[in-house]
Amino acid sequence: LDTARLSDNAVAAAIGRELGRQQNQIELIASENIVSRDVLIAQGSVLTNKYAEGYPGKRYYGGCEYVDEVETLAIDRVKRLFGAAYANVQPHSGAQANQAVFLALLQPGDRIMGLSLAHGGHLTHGSSVTMSGKWFDVVDYQVRESDQLIDMEAVRARALETRPKLIVAGASAYPREIDFAGFRAIADEVGAYLMVDMAHYAGLIAAGLYPNPVPHAHITTSTTHKTLRGPRGGIILTNDEALAKKLNSAVFPGNQGGPLMHVIAAKAVAFGEALQPSFRDYAARVIANARALAATLKAGGLDIVSGGTDCHMVLVDLRPKGVKGRDAERALERAGLTCNKNAIPFDPEKPFVTSGIRLGTSAGTTRGLSEAEFIRVGQLVLKVVEALAVSGPEGDAAVEAEVLAEVRRVCAAHPIYAG
Ligand code: PLP
Repeated sequence: LDTARLSDNAVAAAIGRELGRQQNQIELIASENIVSRDVLIAQGSVLTNKYAEGYPGKRYYGGCEYVDEVETLAIDRVKRLFGAAYANVQPHSGAQANQAVFLALLQPGDRIMGLSLAHGGHLTHGSSVTMSGKWFDVVDYQVRESDQLIDMEAVRARALETRPKLIVAGASAYPREIDFAGFRAIADEVGAYLMVDMAHYAGLIAAGLYPNPVPHAHITTSTTHKTLRGPRGGIILTNDEALAKKLNSAVFPGNQGGPLMHVIAAKAVAFGEALQPSFRDYAARVIANARALAATLKAGGLDIVSGGTDCHMVLVDLRPKGVKGRDAERALERAGLTCNKNAIPFDPEKPFVTSGIRLGTSAGTTRGLSEAEFIRVGQLVLKVVEALAVSGPEGDAAVEAEVLAEVRRVCAAHPIYAG
């Protein structure tokens, strides 16, 4: 990578250290991935210099002919990827994509219904600390206590009782398939819009390995940087022409100024990569690896929320070992395994402590870890967690050092951004 050519030594040094961190630890954060060099090159391009308010062919600035080509490529490719009739590739992030949908469809005070944050929903789906929670009247739905799955009958009953104007399906910490057709039937029954936020699952959906919400939702939003393995950013898709017009106005000028054309170029590159047959193989390995990881942790005595996974994500309940999510996150990080603490459904602990961790296989699979290696990763996670159970929240430095040495060997066998 070209950080060595950066003349700002202070920034170059920090980027260099971050590169080293990424190269030498196994990334298990479910929302992260490792983009290709092509994505990095596009994002680091001169397109960052260009103002292009508006849309291809209808800009408020001159000199937009080449960025028009880039944005058109991104739009065409993402439409093909998800079978959507209309796409907006300008949202700067997933949160801004969701805000644009709210701006397009709702008035302040309208009622929205989303999966509770504590049960796996995203902040932007109605949490009181976000715009979605401050400006709208939020009702939520939850997972069932018995099997930790979304209870569609309960969702229907809640929708019938509360009559939301918009229902949000999609999650940040829900490892199972979501019944998008079922959500649409409920939305139709109560006269609500259905917005699906497929951020976590997008790459698996593009590969045809997780249900595609686009045929069912009025509007589908996503980030581009999780399983889809693109640059950080957002997209909005729909099959409805009238909604597409409203969404375009809501993104610009409603919610954003000039689009980040360098990021849109990187999105176009990533969408092109996801259209290749090799991306389907990648997504299949992501899921197989997640299942192997979940099975290993379960065999080692940890509980897996919902009993397993249908995607890249494994939500681990640490309570059988008497360990807290916060302590596990810290100990695993010291051992070279990066993840995040995560509330599990009906978690007795506070959100900053939690009883769980969320793991994901998207990034590790990108760097080439096999199923056997993910089984080993699971054993290493168990080793660190079991040491915590014995020695308390401070962990066992000797065990962590041993695990770190093995992680380094795995990383060396699967280098990223080398040379
Ligand atoms: N939607 C879901 C389901 C997410 O998991 C996330 C990110 O974690 C977002 C939206 C927000 O995306 P961003 O961080 O790009 O704003």
